[in-house]
Amino acid sequence: MAASVNTRSPGSLETPILNTNEWEYQEHMHHFHYVNNELYCEEVPVTQIATEVGTPFYLYSYATLKMHFHAFDGAFQDIAHLTCFSMKSNSNLAVLRLFALEGGGVDIVSGGELYRALKAGIEPSKIVFSGVGKRSEDLAYALESDILMFNIESSQEIERLDGVARDLGKKARVAIRVNPDVDPATHPYISTGLRENKFGIDIRQAPEQYEMAAKMKNLQVTGVSCHIGSQLTQVDPFVEALRRLLDLVDRLKQSGISIQYLDLGGGLGITYEREAPPHPAEYAKAIKSEVKDKDLVLIFEPGRVIAGNAGILVTQVLYTKSTPEKNFIVVDAAMNDLVRPSLYSSYHAIQPVVERQRGRIKADVVGPICESGDFFAKGRGVDAYEPGDLMAIMSAGAYGFTMASNYNSRPRVAEVMVYGGQYYVVRKRETYEDLIRGEVIPDFMR
Ligand SMILES: *Cc1c(COP(=O)(O)O)cnc(C)c1O
Repeated sequence: MAASVNTRSPGSLETPILNTNEWEYQEHMHHFHYVNNELYCEEVPVTQIATEVGTPFYLYSYATLKMHFHAFDGAFQDIAHLTCFSMKSNSNLAVLRLFALEGGGVDIVSGGELYRALKAGIEPSKIVFSGVGKRSEDLAYALESDILMFNIESSQEIERLDGVARDLGKKARVAIRVNPDVDPATHPYISTGLRENKFGIDIRQAPEQYEMAAKMKNLQVTGVSCHIGSQLTQVDPFVEALRRLLDLVDRLKQSGISIQYLDLGGGLGITYEREAPPHPAEYAKAIKSEVKDKDLVLIFEPGRVIAGNAGILVTQVLYTKSTPEKNFIVVDAAMNDLVRPSLYSSYHAIQPVVERQRGRIKADVVGPICESGDFFAKGRGVDAYEPGDLMAIMSAGAYGFTMASNYNSRPRVAEVMVYGGQYYVVRKRETYEDLIRGEVIPDFMR
């Protein structure tokens, strides 16, 4: 199978290499690659999976997920740290299990995510709980599960958590998620660390909130946290945020509040098109030089950088049509399966599963949903696909399936994981019965 391997897909994280330029531009071994014009995931031809599982489906590479996890986690191996995969980017149990087996933790944002984490065997002592709107039930569930830390986002939440912990006779370990007011220079919808964002507590108000939390009998102040945004392509905003958090830690120390954990959130970007984000090793180098003499355990919450390029969405071409203005390629996946292009105008590379040398056209790649916003690409140069052809929508491993819905009563697609020469359906395709589960026609209408 070594014949003519070419790597046309966007960048993935190879083993940690300090020379980032090399990493960026090298033709590195990628776990989605072509062998004799056919797209493979590790050692399995994508066409085979499509034939046996049907389309559309998400396809994850075990080896790529593992490699990305270690590229990130390994970059911090010489300092005390914990890598908590951000579960909202990909919450499939098999994916979570992989991180559990590799020693990773998770960052959760809901009770449902905590349930998944525990089912996947993530150690509670490696779970951090973020989010602006945690309900009392969620707080209680997490307290009873004895998670590592709550990242609190408002003064009311401080009081709420203290109350819930008191009722349960427990003590909650807390960090305050501060908003450091750093511009992450990313898409406005995924920037979270600016003063105007809903997340966290303004860093200028943080000391008084810490004083308040420190007085609560059922809280134990242990950390500071932040998360400034997603798909960052530069190191500087992270360093800036870190410095502001370190200043806060010093200030708190002076008022007798000692901090053990510093949670820097997630946000490291990936290559979808031509972005050149820093390699985790470069990110780690910058972070480590700021914290070397500090007695702190660092927590990271990477999502996209680990899962993004470890998954693709495989779809089949249903129809092609041309208007005087445009070419359209209608595929069987839609915005309900992968919403990023519709929601953020995100770019996803589009590649043929079998390269057929039919020439190139400029086209819109669209789904069957009754919305003009249902597209994967607009005015994109793509191969001249024909009905029945399989297409791979690349870089779909993060914020893909987790953001899927049943809009237009479309069953959610299957998720498949390849491990070497084997593939496993790690989530069955939903059925029509699944679509109406829980729905009831009231008796008076029968
Ligand atoms: C979304 C999110 C992350 C992960 O962001 P990525 O860009 O996927 O790394 C981490 N922490 C928190 C609090 C988040 O909301």
